[in-house]
Amino acid sequence: MASIALKAFVGLRQSSSEKPNFTTQVKPIIAHRKLRVNASKYSPKVAGRNLRVAIIGGGPAGGAAAETLAKGGIETFLIERKLDNCKPCGGAIPLCMVGEFDLPLDIIDRRVTKMKMISPSNVAVDIGGTLKPHEYIGMVRREVLDDYLRTRAKENGANIINGLFLKMDLPKEKNTPYLLHYTGYDEKTGGVGVKKTLEVDAVIGADGANSRVAKSINAGDYDYAIAFQERIRIPDDKMAYYENLAEMYVGDDVSPDFYGWVFPKCDHVAVGTGTVTHKGDIKKFQLATRKRANDKILGGKIIRVEAHPIPEHPRPRRLSGRVALVGDAAGYVTKCSGEGIYFAAKSGRMCAEAIIEGSENGKRMVDEGDLRKYLEKWDKTYWPTYKVLDVLQKVFYRSNPAREAFVEMCADEYVQKMTFDSYLYKTVAPGNPLQDLKLAVNTIGSLVRANALRREMEKLNVRSKYKQVKQ
Ligand SMILES: Cc1cc2nc3c(=O)[nH]c(=O)nc-3n(C[C@H](O)[C@H](O)[C@H](O)COP(=O)(O)OP(=O)(O)OC[C@H]3O[C@@H](n4cnc5c(N)ncnc54)[C@H](O)[C@@H]3O)c2cc1C
Repeated sequence: MASIALKAFVGLRQSSSEKPNFTTQVKPIIAHRKLRVNASKYSPKVAGRNLRVAIIGGGPAGGAAAETLAKGGIETFLIERKLDNCKPCGGAIPLCMVGEFDLPLDIIDRRVTKMKMISPSNVAVDIGGTLKPHEYIGMVRREVLDDYLRTRAKENGANIINGLFLKMDLPKEKNTPYLLHYTGYDEKTGGVGVKKTLEVDAVIGADGANSRVAKSINAGDYDYAIAFQERIRIPDDKMAYYENLAEMYVGDDVSPDFYGWVFPKCDHVAVGTGTVTHKGDIKKFQLATRKRANDKILGGKIIRVEAHPIPEHPRPRRLSGRVALVGDAAGYVTKCSGEGIYFAAKSGRMCAEAIIEGSENGKRMVDEGDLRKYLEKWDKTYWPTYKVLDVLQKVFYRSNPAREAFVEMCADEYVQKMTFDSYLYKTVAPGNPLQDLKLAVNTIGSLVRANALRREMEKLNVRSKYKQVKQ
């Protein structure tokens, strides 16, 4: 979500001579109709039944994949260990997700139209003034969103299994099934689950950052951030301040490499922060975030404390045979921002579409080549966005002076417009060459000032250390 400011630069790239290959507005193929595919291929027909696909994990990635598969004629099983799971999450979603995934407004707690970016020295810049009347950032509680997506998948024919996936036996021969082992809780008695197995033709790993499916296919590891969040119920007058407003704090105190946030929910605010480099200090950063927001959340009661890893980049391997990873299991969270809900749902849907297409609506067996089409499409669509954010993190999150420069830039109306357009629609907003030039000059100016400030601060630090040594 922090990327909303950084994404301005995605916009900048489009007006350069370089042809952008990351036009992210992919038309949703799935509406409320069955996906029909007319491809023809030579893989064998599955006799007397439809293709069977299991999805492990019922977050946004799993829910979206299950709905798409079920609508596309696939016999779909979704295994989720906790059907009332409250995934630790800020719950900020872009406007395009509401449209593309046909989300009803009553599952969105708040529609944020104002955002405050707050610098290390507590300079607050208001952004959001350029939003059109219908535009907003959605704030959801994950227990609500995930349940909604799973329920809709079920209504479309997916079998939802309450179970803990344990491991899978890989097929020994071509086109033979995967055998999944899981503990089923559907008929559990006295809290004890029942060991079960399920045979399927393909598997989608949507089981998040600690994915067991990823382990089953030796997908390798990724760097990760640890994110910490407290849900805080605050007095009504304080809640009124956050009615349609969210805050983002940057500074060494709240995180050396991430940002702190206050996101409004139905009857509370979610206050959190994250870090990749100093995981052991996460509680210290959380305390600092709470302190920075103190006057606005005073009198609040912490009602839930939660923490979870956030992947920093895709896994070395995201596909093996007829098993593919999506969402956090694959590592699709944008660097430095921690935004992953939309990308999880999108990748789940994209992977499902590749299976539907490859299997001709469940009539034929799929192979690795069919699933690879999802990866190719994903990388073509999103890889540059991830790369740009990676570079920007390195530029703007490296020191407090750089963060001051970053917040200063956010005051620019043009930056705000490009930023919101890029974030809300996950598309590249066409830039205005003159404004782009002005912005580039301003950016360089801000960075030069930031560097000068950093040098002065370093000198001061050296002097004070020298003084201490002398004393
Ligand atoms: C503190 C925090 C704040 C964040 N804030 C934002 C934000 O504001 N906006 C944003 O876009 N992103 C945010 N993210 C990132 C976002 O939460 C993830 O990118 C997103 O949840 C990924 O969805 P997913 O479906 O891939 O995985 P998950 O949401 O992690 O879902 C995985 C599911 O799999 C289930 N599961 C796991 N293992 C098994 C198993 N063995 N058997 C059965 N089921 C299993 C889990 O119970 C879970 O329901 C945040 C993350 C954190 C940690």
